[in-house]
Amino acid sequence: MSKLAIFGGRPVRSHPFPPYRTLGAEEIEAVNRVMEKGQLSRFIGAWHPDFWGGEEIRALEEEWAAFFNVKHAIAVNSCTSGLQCAIGALDLEPGDEVIVPPLTMSATVVAPLVFDCIPVFSDCDPATFCLDPERLQDAITHRTRAILAVDLFGHPISEELIRIAKDKGLYLVEDAAQAPGATKGGRYAGTLGDIGVFSLNYHKHIHCGEGGIVVTDDDDLALRVRLIRNHAESCVEGAGIESISGLIGFNFRLTEIQAAIAREQLKKLPELLSKRRANARWLSEELKDIPALSPPEEREDVGHAYYVHAIRYDEKVAEISRDVFVAAVKRELPVMAGREGDGVLIRDGYVRPLYLLPIFKQKQCYGRKGYPFTLSGRSEWPNYAEGCCPVSERLHFKELIIHELIHAGLSMSDMKDVRDAFFKVWEKRDELKGLSIQDI
Ligand SMILES: *Cc1c(COP(=O)(O)O)cnc(C)c1O
Repeated sequence: MSKLAIFGGRPVRSHPFPPYRTLGAEEIEAVNRVMEKGQLSRFIGAWHPDFWGGEEIRALEEEWAAFFNVKHAIAVNSCTSGLQCAIGALDLEPGDEVIVPPLTMSATVVAPLVFDCIPVFSDCDPATFCLDPERLQDAITHRTRAILAVDLFGHPISEELIRIAKDKGLYLVEDAAQAPGATKGGRYAGTLGDIGVFSLNYHKHIHCGEGGIVVTDDDDLALRVRLIRNHAESCVEGAGIESISGLIGFNFRLTEIQAAIAREQLKKLPELLSKRRANARWLSEELKDIPALSPPEEREDVGHAYYVHAIRYDEKVAEISRDVFVAAVKRELPVMAGREGDGVLIRDGYVRPLYLLPIFKQKQCYGRKGYPFTLSGRSEWPNYAEGCCPVSERLHFKELIIHELIHAGLSMSDMKDVRDAFFKVWEKRDELKGLSIQDI
């Protein structure tokens, strides 16, 4: 075996990995169909038959609802806006608290703030990386109204969490951006709580450039989501809605072309997912032989969607830091075609726990006087201090290795290169001892 690439040896592989390309002739045909019709959107921001959107939007919503076995699917222009619709639909009071995880995309935890509600962070389970039901108790107060949980990295939220939400009478909103097609006990992630939200942005399993879908079985919540999507304030009278709280509307509408593309993408989801799963499971099985690595768990009643393959790293067993190990593995592997600018698609950590962002650290959001955080009436609550979610911090700063080299465009021979890079660095780790990340 050659020297480690970081010491000038020949890398395991240097020609780029194939891209993750899900668009094909079907999408082109779908776009042309809409272009020939000439109607790129048919929404109108008034109580009118076109309040519901055009043909492609309605077809996408119907097909999405049928696929995920849910009563309502509502197309929006991003998961970010979908999360805002979901929180708005709950009819909360300013100052009400929504429990959120610290490891997720920032859009998740900002959604409550848009409606003057306060995100309260609760730590994650080190095995699944989703909210830890055992920790939840510390985050619940008399102002808690909802839990906004994330199916992180494609692993569905836990049964226990769903039960706690029910028992305590809390709404459960599920951010399923990373988990389309993931299952738990035969039900789809996104449909496990009161409202679920999916993303159709370009980095997700399936996409239409930008887009999102909100799903729910509840008729009232569905109508409120549709109103928030489309200028609620000028539509509530026509809709005969009396409980108008929270119903300020936006323009969160998806276009007909995007909906037409999303319809084709949905058809491809099962196949894309099954290839991704096969790659992830194969690699997990292989990497088990490296004692310092714990591949992601997939519990018995769970079908993981593997948005990424999240591995835990044990620095004590390896005797070199995670950051040095990851840097060395990256040097053994190439970039992915089409995403050269992102470097090798392996990362040490995910996102810094979100309470460390300035908006929370300084408790400053609307104006300069601390609103809406001041609504809690206690300056020490919520606690956004460093150390408040120690598991999330340890995972991000010390243990998590996340990579995207499992996507459906990768063949078995590509996967073997990924495996070989991990093994090469593991077997030669003695050479890395004493190095710090600055040396690399
Ligand atoms: C991608 C993502 C979002 C945001 O999705 P957009 O469609 O880009 O708004 C929200 N939450 C999570 C967990 C995500 O991964």
